[in-house]
Amino acid sequence: MSFNLDKITRENVKGLKPYSSARDEYVSDGSEMVFLDANENPFQNGVNRYPDPQQRSLKAVLAQQKSILERNVLLGNGSDEVLDLLFRAFCEPKADNVITLPPTYGMYKVLADINVVGNREVLLLDNFQPDVDTILANVDNHTKIIFICSPNNPTGNSFNKNSIIRLLKEFKGLVVIDEAYIDFSNEESWISKLSEYPNLIITQTLSKAYGMAGIRLGICFASSDIISILNKIKPPYNVNELTQQRAIERFADMERVKQEVNSILGERQKLNETLKSIPFVSKIYPTDANFILVKVDDADKRYNELLRKGIVIRNRTTQPLCENTLRFTIGTKDENNKLKDVLKSLS
Ligand SMILES: *Cc1c(COP(=O)(O)O)cnc(C)c1O
Repeated sequence: MSFNLDKITRENVKGLKPYSSARDEYVSDGSEMVFLDANENPFQNGVNRYPDPQQRSLKAVLAQQKSILERNVLLGNGSDEVLDLLFRAFCEPKADNVITLPPTYGMYKVLADINVVGNREVLLLDNFQPDVDTILANVDNHTKIIFICSPNNPTGNSFNKNSIIRLLKEFKGLVVIDEAYIDFSNEESWISKLSEYPNLIITQTLSKAYGMAGIRLGICFASSDIISILNKIKPPYNVNELTQQRAIERFADMERVKQEVNSILGERQKLNETLKSIPFVSKIYPTDANFILVKVDDADKRYNELLRKGIVIRNRTTQPLCENTLRFTIGTKDENNKLKDVLKSLS
């Protein structure tokens, strides 16, 4: 039996007639028109008009950057909104379930809880790789989505390609690969595999490598059939005008983005070297992301010592498999130098 999108879509979503906004009913072709259809204030200030609900200009730029068609792209108010749309489109509350792989990004579980969808947790193996056999053994007729975060937050590693391929081939629901950190990695994005796997969904974000966490722009890449379903349920104006403008400007300056990523990668290497010389650091986990996870003697104690010195990091000690771990985000050269000085001063 192969993947059948119709079978895994919620009945109410299939039958849904989406809200038709003024900007859906009349799509501007660029000609001079008098717009008296949306009850907007007519006095121009740059944002007095509703934004394009389909974000056509931004998607055109993005499609070109990522070598993909616009119909394979959906944009959201951060990837968190995109992830929420996936729950709402495919998971029946109180009936369906998803599989997540802790330790991982905390939002998958929160969104499952908000949507009253079961969350089956299958721990990563000791090497932080997915346990494919156990994952597949946990699938039942109500399992709709497996969430894969690669590179994974908070561990930093990328998942083995073959493990992901097995899930894509053997699971008849959706496999979501969260690529929030892909731009810091040497691994290739899964975007180029979209035509091969109809159940593959990839999410990316402008919040990390692109330096735009404040504008809230998340991206979903999937088959045009999946994108059409998500378009039916997304709020009409979910990506605001200022966000669309700022994202387009940023994509026009990719040199800058690449420079910043390279600087972060260089700083990551230097911090890694320093961490090797810190006596209370017992393990530095390999990372493909803009952070480093380390194991220390006493995470609570070290976390508080750093706080008192004015440095805020993430204490991950309560996460499964992460006892006594701390997560350091890579900052600017000055910030990292301050961190290194403080680490060296502690004993
Ligand atoms: C930071 C992060 C995101 C980003 O979410 P946005 O809503 O786009 O800011 C998504 N997934 C993971 C794993 C992250 O760490």
